[in-house]
Amino acid sequence: MSEAEEIRKLITLLESENLIEAKNMAAINQPGKKFLCRICGYVYSEALGDVMLDALPGTRWEDIPDELLYCPDCGHQREDFYEVTWSPSEKNWVRV
Ligand SMILES: [Zn+2]
Repeated sequence: MSEAEEIRKLITLLESENLIEAKNMAAINQPGKKFLCRICGYVYSEALGDVMLDALPGTRWEDIPDELLYCPDCGHQREDFYEVTWSPSEKNWVRV
């Protein structure tokens, strides 16, 4: 891989990481359930849905078919997610 290719790949990775971070921030104040990927920290918000999971806003977690449910960030599946809520005091997601 050339240096230019390496830099491009790095930029792509950074951008996708920022996207996940941006989604997670948007999820904090949303109503409805949220589910956190224990592998990478991605949070699915039922209120927001996620275009990468083909889930429109308001799509319930249990209504996403198992075969379509891959973490948009790391590719792990439902068994690696658990329900969370945002804790303002801890400034972090905590398990429900
Ligand atoms: Zn993940």
